[in-house]
Amino acid sequence: MILSGKAKLAGVMGWPVSHSRSPRLHGYWLDHYGIDGAYLPLAVAPARFEQALRALPVLGFRGANVTIPHKEEAFRLVDHRTTRAEQMGAVNTVVVQEEGLLLGDNTDGFGFIENLRAGLPDWQPEAAQAVILGAGGAARGICVSLLEVGVPRLVIVNRTLDRAQALAESLDPGRIGAAAWSALPDLLPEAGLLVNTTSLGMAGQPPLEIDLAPLPLSAAVTDIVYAPLMTALLRQAQFRGHAVVDGLGMLLHQARPGFQAWFGPDPAVTAELHAFVAEGL
Ligand code: NAP
Repeated sequence: MILSGKAKLAGVMGWPVSHSRSPRLHGYWLDHYGIDGAYLPLAVAPARFEQALRALPVLGFRGANVTIPHKEEAFRLVDHRTTRAEQMGAVNTVVVQEEGLLLGDNTDGFGFIENLRAGLPDWQPEAAQAVILGAGGAARGICVSLLEVGVPRLVIVNRTLDRAQALAESLDPGRIGAAAWSALPDLLPEAGLLVNTTSLGMAGQPPLEIDLAPLPLSAAVTDIVYAPLMTALLRQAQFRGHAVVDGLGMLLHQARPGFQAWFGPDPAVTAELHAFVAEGL
């Protein structure tokens, strides 16, 4: 794509950022919609993050995505936040507004739910409880959005039980429980959805060792780890006959609100896009 002097600019700030698939994803959409715009990888060290964020309006950027390790710092630094960013305590999408003010949004929960709805068209959130593995930054957004769409009860299972308890307590202790890994065999029989939000099973991380035998076959399984695309958890679940949803779709859908705010269209998430971004995973 040849840019004009009026090209719309956005990018992703991370440290490191070279692994990010977002430039490939947004680049695909920019080409697809024939937009005069660019989306750049922006490697920003933590010590320079504030300077870089404040430079967005100065440089004429329409905004940026923010990824590890900057999401909490972005939350602190932006001028305004959306309600969902407030709920999540982290910002992954920044939109430059009039007079250079920065609006912070968090689209991870949106991306998670849109991906589930696309992958499980018959999913009835209110039908059964969900078991969430992990209590980190991603788990928070996922718990908020699952409660919002009507899942009656969540149980957060985490290596560090205190962290699961603190997350449940801060969100909705009436609808969220916390449990240790050893409780999983007793929790799985009641679950309609199992979600892995830990980094276990990701390339370079320890494996996620879990026996799905107690999980009813009607339950769906999703993993937000997407490298590899088919994690050992998803392979085991698929082999047993569960509906499975991979984590790449969450990344694709979470990008939509930012793309729309910076470039115009609400971009489509298609099988072709999924395959394009998944290349090499
Ligand atoms: P995080 O805040 O660092 O949380 C990591 C979680 O994994 C914690 O619950 C942690 O448990 C658990 N964990 C890590 N190592 C473990 C081990 N050896 N044994 C047991 N539990 C372990 O990370 P995050 O930001 O939530 O991200 C988690 C994963 O989601 C990452 O792989 C990330 O790439 C992926 N992600 C994907 C998307 C997407 O769009 N698909 C979006 C966001 C994140 P403790 O509390 O006990 O440490």
